[in-house]
Amino acid sequence: MTINPIHLEKLKKILGSEGWIDDQTDMPSFLREPRDKYQGNTPLILMPDSTEKTAEIVRYCAQNKIPLVPQGGNSGLVGGAIPTGEILLSLKRLKAIRQQDARNLTITVEAGCILSHIQELAQEMNCLFPLSLAAEGSCMIGGNISTNAGGVNVLHYGNMRNLVLGLEVVLPNGETWHGLGGLRKDNTGYDLKQLFIGAEGSLGIITAATLKLSPHPHEKQTAFVAVPDPDAAVNLLSIARNISGDCLTAFEIIPRLGIDMVTDNIPGSRDPMTQTYDWYILLEGTSSLSRDLLDLEAVMERILSTGLDDGLILDGVIAKNITESNNLWQLRENLSEAQKFEGGSIKHDISVPISAIPAFLIEAGMAVETSIPGARPVPFGHLGDGNLHYNISQPKHMARQAFLDQWESLNQSVHDVVDKFNGSFSAEHGIGRMKTDDMLRYKSKVEMAMMTKIKHTLDPHNIMNPGVIVRK
Ligand SMILES: Cc1cc2nc3c(=O)[nH]c(=O)nc-3n(C[C@H](O)[C@H](O)[C@H](O)COP(=O)(O)OP(=O)(O)OC[C@H]3O[C@@H](n4cnc5c(N)ncnc54)[C@H](O)[C@@H]3O)c2cc1C
Repeated sequence: MTINPIHLEKLKKILGSEGWIDDQTDMPSFLREPRDKYQGNTPLILMPDSTEKTAEIVRYCAQNKIPLVPQGGNSGLVGGAIPTGEILLSLKRLKAIRQQDARNLTITVEAGCILSHIQELAQEMNCLFPLSLAAEGSCMIGGNISTNAGGVNVLHYGNMRNLVLGLEVVLPNGETWHGLGGLRKDNTGYDLKQLFIGAEGSLGIITAATLKLSPHPHEKQTAFVAVPDPDAAVNLLSIARNISGDCLTAFEIIPRLGIDMVTDNIPGSRDPMTQTYDWYILLEGTSSLSRDLLDLEAVMERILSTGLDDGLILDGVIAKNITESNNLWQLRENLSEAQKFEGGSIKHDISVPISAIPAFLIEAGMAVETSIPGARPVPFGHLGDGNLHYNISQPKHMARQAFLDQWESLNQSVHDVVDKFNGSFSAEHGIGRMKTDDMLRYKSKVEMAMMTKIKHTLDPHNIMNPGVIVRK
C-alpha cells in the first residue's frame, strides 16, 4: 500500500511539528507487538492531542480514503495495533483527566491515559478502578476499552463492558459522537457505546470515556492452595462463592509445570509449600467493609477449612501481609515471562463454561499430544471466569522454530475442542489480525453477516483498522 506523499504532508500540517513522526528510526517501539509475532510498517505516525484534531485527521482520511490504525499502549497480543502500511494514529498525547466525581463514583479520562495512572487517581478519590492486568503500566484506557480488556478482577467487577458508562468517539466519517456521561440507567434506544467496546478500532476512534468506579476495598485476603485436580478446583470455586458472598475477586489456576517454570527461571520467586502438587489455585477476597464489620480473614479460613474437610484442598497458605500476597501473585503474573526460558510457546486465550473446564482440559491435552507429541500444555489463568491462557511450551528437545511453525495448526486443534464445548477462541485479547480465520471458521454465518453490515454501515470506505475483526 502506498499513500500519496501530498496526503502525508497535509496530515502533518493539521497537527504541527509536535504531532507526527516520519523518521523510521524513531518508529520501532510503535511497530513491534509485545510477543514479536507482528512487525509492522507505516509511512507516518500521527499523534493528535485533542478530540478536535483527531476528528480533523479522520475527516481528511475519510475524504481521501486513507486507512488508519489506532494505537494505545501497544500491549495488544493479536496484532490489532500494528499497521501494515496504513497510517498509525497514536492516542498517547490524548491524556487529560476531564472530570473526577467521587459522589457519582465516576472518572472521565481521555483515551491515552495509562491504566495504572487511572487506578492511582481512583485511589486518591478513595475509590477503586478495578481493571487490573499485567500490562497496566503501559496499556491505555482507549486500548482497554477497544479490546474489552478483562484481567484478574473480572470475577467480581466484570470486564470493560461493565466498567464504561459513556464514550466519546470519532466516527469513520470524521464526525464526533459525544456520548460521555455518568448514567447508570439510560434506556433510550440501542446502547451504542457497547458497539465500540471490543471493536478494536474497526468502527471509530475512542477519544474519551466515563468510567465506573467502586468503593475502595479496605480488606484483602490472598491464599494459595494445592488442589487434587481441575474438577476439585471447580468445586472449590462454588464453595468459595457460597461462603464469601460477593467478596471473591480472583480465582486463578496454575499447574505444577507453571510453578516449576517460574521458580526455575524468575529470580526471587519460590514455591511457598514444602511438598509439590499437580494443581494450584490463587484466590483472593476483598471487601470495602472495614475489619470491625467483616472479618475477611475468618471468611478465607472458613473457605480453606471447608475445602480441606471436603478433600478439595491438599495444602495451602494464607498471605500474612501485602508482601506475602504480592509474592503469591508473582507466581501467577510471571508465568508467561517464565515460559520464554523454556523455548517456544504457542498461545491460546480461550473460555468455556466453568463447569466444562475439567473435561475441556482432558480433551485439549489429548488433542495437543496427538498434534505434537511431547508438547507441554501450561493452562493457567482466570478459572473463575472460565477463561484459560492455554499456553503450550515446546517439547524439550524440539527445535524452537519447527515448533512455532505449527502455531496455526495447533491453534486449530485446540480451538476445535473449545468449539465442541461451546466456548470462545478469544476470551480476552480479541481478534486483531491474528484470529480472522477463526472468526470465519467458528462464528455463524448470521453473526458474521451482522458484524459485516455494521462495519460497512459505519465505515463504508473501510479506512478504520482495515483487516481487523471483519476482513473487508
Ligand atoms: C504482559 C501482558 C499481560 C496482559 N494481560 C491481559 C489480561 O490479563 N487481560 C486482557 O484483557 N488483556 C491482557 N493483555 C493484552 C493487552 O494488554 C490488552 O488487550 C490491553 O487492553 C490493550 O491496551 P493497549 O492500550 O495496549 O492497546 P493497543 O495494543 O495499542 O491496541 C489494542 C487494539 O485496540 C485498538 N485501539 C487502541 N486504542 C484505541 C482507541 N483509542 N480507539 C479505538 N481503537 C483503539 C487498536 O487498534 C488495537 O486493535 C496483556 C498484555 C500483556 C503484554
